[in-house]
Amino acid sequence: MKREKLVVLGGGESGVGAAILGKDKNMEVFLSDMGTVAPRYAAMLDAEGIEWEQGAHSPERILDADLVVKSPGIPPTAPMVKAIVERGIPVISEIELAGRYTDAKMVCITGSNGKTTTTMLTYHILADAGINVGLAGNVGRSLALQVAREPHDVYVIELSSFQLENMYEFKANVAVILNITPDHLDRYDYKMQNYINAKFRILNNLTPQDAFIYWQDDPVIRRQLEQVTTEARMYPFAEHVEKETKAYVDSDDQLVIDTPETSLTMPRAELSLNGLHNLYNSMAAGLSACLLNIKKDEIRRALSNFEGVEHRLEYITTINGVRWINDSKATNVNSCWYALESMPASVPSVVLILGGKDKGNDYSEILPLVKQKVKAIVCMGKDNAKLLDFFTPHVETIADTHSLEDAVEACSKIASKGDTVLLSPCCASFDLFTSYENRGELFKQAVKNLEK
Ligand code: ADP
Repeated sequence: MKREKLVVLGGGESGVGAAILGKDKNMEVFLSDMGTVAPRYAAMLDAEGIEWEQGAHSPERILDADLVVKSPGIPPTAPMVKAIVERGIPVISEIELAGRYTDAKMVCITGSNGKTTTTMLTYHILADAGINVGLAGNVGRSLALQVAREPHDVYVIELSSFQLENMYEFKANVAVILNITPDHLDRYDYKMQNYINAKFRILNNLTPQDAFIYWQDDPVIRRQLEQVTTEARMYPFAEHVEKETKAYVDSDDQLVIDTPETSLTMPRAELSLNGLHNLYNSMAAGLSACLLNIKKDEIRRALSNFEGVEHRLEYITTINGVRWINDSKATNVNSCWYALESMPASVPSVVLILGGKDKGNDYSEILPLVKQKVKAIVCMGKDNAKLLDFFTPHVETIADTHSLEDAVEACSKIASKGDTVLLSPCCASFDLFTSYENRGELFKQAVKNLEK
């Protein structure tokens, strides 16, 4: 029989995983990357004897494919992708490919903010309960590679809207949408509806045996649910109970999670992750775990001992009574809103570091919280003009810095005992740093140096 020709576009984690799965399924595999393939992945491809190229795409080879797996970072408008689609060659995502070769249960998590935290928390609950569970998707591990070489009974998968775009037959067992706020609109013709539609693809193919978990108070999700139908059982969560709410906080400050399988309560104060946003993340993870029949005690224990995820409201240290917090992953205004929301409110005591590459931000969303909780803003970016213009009339102290060292120094001068210095910059990191991880690492290092 003729072997199916699989072309993989993009030689990162997902592409290399897809190539290896394709090889194991006896496909003729070719991987092509316009940029450079990292040495680690090049070595994996060579060790597997998979043919690959970098620095250019060979059209004759690519357009001869029966099936193309496209990495999520490559936009559908890329000329090569357009040419493939014009030829009528199916283009799918790595997750779609992997889904064809496993019967494992899939917990799929999407949203504009909180995906990684909720994915890691859900994984933590299941792993702690002894389930043979794999962590996959945007969190950095290929689903296809695990399906090929390290199969699990359950996968917890973080899905970005980019990954969802090329998924068709894939089916989740538990689908989660945490929230939808504007993000990545440059990839969606600046049309919010296109972005919403991509997120809602997570509901595709759900059956009455499957579950849909979502934030009930999200206006965007609510509106979309008026137009979209799903056969799945619905598990909305909200801070306060209303009709049909399946996870909420009751009048005694107990978190309540209600599913046909389990009814669980625990004091909200015992959740290890703080802040309203993390209450939502804990609800989504807790609901997922209940639906997978994890024992109540195990869920409670895992929700209370989860250590959090690096660069997300990560406590660094306290120096001379000043707490330092790294929330470098807050690359949009909405996530900074939640960071501020979680800060104590009695007097303005937050020194907030903002700045970086502005993605067309509207800062008015955080203004009420800034007025209530922030005593000073330290701008840290190549160009701080927009921040200075917007915030100068609203805070007592505002500093203009252009390096991490200067920003940390300014903060340590301004902050006094009882204050919190919060890096929650609302912006991408690419003006001064290589990534949000790099920004967070350097920030932590600079803070630790203050202790010396
Ligand atoms: P994602 O993977 O979707 O980018 P993360 O878990 O990495 O989300 O969190 C990114 C930022 O978003 C964090 O800095 C945090 O302050 C904020 N955040 C986390 N969970 C939520 C939520 N449920 N709603 C809004 N903001 C959130």
